[in-house]
Amino acid sequence: MNFHQLYIDGAWVPAGGTADLPVTDSFSEAVFAHYRAASPADVDAAVRAAQRAFDGWSATPLAQRIDAVRRVAGALQERSGAIGAVISREVGMPAKLAARIQVAAPIAAWTMYADLAADVEWLRRVGHSLVQQLPVGVVGCITPWNYPLHQITGKVAPALLAGCTVVLKPSELAPSSAFLLAEAIDQAGLPPGVFNLVHGTGPEVGEALVRHPGIDMVSFTGSTAAGRRIAAQAGSDVKRVSLELGGKSAALLLPGADLAAAVKATLAGCFLNAGQTCSATTRLLVPRADMPAVTELLRTGLAAWRMGDPADAATRLGPLISKAQQRKVLSLIEAAVAEGAEALTPQAAPPPTGFFVPPTVLLGVTPGMAIAREEVFGPVLAVIGYDGVDEAVAIANGTDYGLAGSVWAATARQALAVARRLRTGQLDINGAPFNPAAPFGGFKRSGLGRENGRYGIEEFIEPMAIQLPA
Ligand code: NAD
Repeated sequence: MNFHQLYIDGAWVPAGGTADLPVTDSFSEAVFAHYRAASPADVDAAVRAAQRAFDGWSATPLAQRIDAVRRVAGALQERSGAIGAVISREVGMPAKLAARIQVAAPIAAWTMYADLAADVEWLRRVGHSLVQQLPVGVVGCITPWNYPLHQITGKVAPALLAGCTVVLKPSELAPSSAFLLAEAIDQAGLPPGVFNLVHGTGPEVGEALVRHPGIDMVSFTGSTAAGRRIAAQAGSDVKRVSLELGGKSAALLLPGADLAAAVKATLAGCFLNAGQTCSATTRLLVPRADMPAVTELLRTGLAAWRMGDPADAATRLGPLISKAQQRKVLSLIEAAVAEGAEALTPQAAPPPTGFFVPPTVLLGVTPGMAIAREEVFGPVLAVIGYDGVDEAVAIANGTDYGLAGSVWAATARQALAVARRLRTGQLDINGAPFNPAAPFGGFKRSGLGRENGRYGIEEFIEPMAIQLPA
C-alpha cells in the first residue's frame, strides 16, 4: 500500500502536499504508517472530478446505484481482516470487538442502505405538484477517528445512493480504513470521480474542502468545536451542512429499576472503545436512596474492565487514541477529584506502553462540576444523585449536548413517560439495543441533521416541486 497516494477521478495519484501524517499504534506507541497530505491543488482536483461525475451519476438509474453499493459491500468484505487489524492498531479497540463493531457492522450497513434506498419516496404528488427528490450535489465528507469506517459509511453510502458524488477527508489519526474503502470502491468499478479521497489535517485540508465553491454540502462528524467553525463557514456560503457532534449522555435510573442490569449496561455504554464514543453514557443519575446499592455494583462491575493489549482476547479496555487525549482525560479526572468527587478505579496498573486511562467511576459528582458537563472522551463515568424525577430530568437535560441516553425503570411504560421529556436524539429503554435503521443525530450542540437508515439517505436530497397544468 502506498499511503502517499490519494484517490482522485478514479485513479491513485501522488499527494502534492508537504505535510507528513504519521499514524501511531495506540498500544505500542510506535508510528506504523505515514500518509501524505493533499495540496490545495489536489483538493481542487478532487472537487472538480466529483463535479464532472455528478451529472452521469445522478442520472444513473437507482437500481444501478444500489448494485454499485452492494458491490462495494462485497469488496469491503474481502478486506474485512485487514480493516479490523488496522483499526484496532490505530484506535486501540480490542481486536475481537473491533471485528464486530468497527468492521462487520459498517459493512452490513452498506447493504442496509442499499436495501432501504427503495423505501425513499423519490417521486410523489402533492396536489397538482410533482415533487422530485434530487441529489444535493457534491458532498464533502469529513470524519473522525473513533469509529472510522462506521462514520465514513454513514455518509458515503447514503450520499452515493441519493445520487451525490463525494470527496472524503478522513481523520488523520485513523485514515487506513478510508484507504481500504477507496480500494474497494475502485474494485467495485464506480465511475471515475464519483468517490474521491484526500488526506490531511482539519485546519488545512478539511477547511479547504469546506470552503471550496464546488462543494454543495458538508457532512461532518467530529467535535463541537470543529463543527461550529464548519457551520460558520458553510453558513456564510449558504451551503447545506449536517453535523454529528459531541455528547454527554445520561443513563437515568428511576426508582424500582433493575439496578444490576442498569449498572452493567451503563459501564459497558461508558467504557466501550475506552470511552471514545459520541453516544457514551457518561453520566449515571441515581435516586439517592439507591446510591449505596449502586455504588457497590459499580465497585464490583469495574473489576471486569481488564486493561491490556488490544490483540489479547481477554482485554476489554484498550488504550486511548493518543498521548494528548490521555493527558486531557487524566487532567479532567484530577480536576473532578479536586472539586470533591471520589474516584473508584481497579487496582491493576495499566500496561507499560499504550495511552491508557484506567476505567474510572467518579462518585459524588454534582451537576455544576466540569466533569458533569464537558465531553471527556475517555473511560470515565460521573455518578450524580437526585431526589425526585423532575430533578433527574432537569439534570439529564442540563448540558449543552443532546445526543443519546438511557432510561431504566421497572416497566417500559414508566420509562417511556420520562424518556419523552429528555431532549436527546436517541434513547434506549432498559438496555434495548442500537437500531441502525432508526435516525441518529443530536439536539442542541450535538448537531444538525440525522444519519442512519432511510433518514440518512434523505439528508442528501433536495426536493424540487414542479406544478403541473390542470
Ligand atoms: P475533530 O473535530 O478533531 O476532527 C474530526 C474531523 O474533522 C477530522 O477529520 C479532522 O481532521 C477534521 N477537522 C478538524 N477541524 C476541522 C476544521 N476546522 N475544518 C474542517 N475539518 C476539520 O474530532 P475527533 O477528535 O476526530 O473526534 C472526536 C469527536 O467527534 C468527539 O467530540 C465526538 O463526540 C465526536 N463524534 C460525534 C459523533 C456523532 O455521531 N455525533 C460520532 C463520533 C464522534
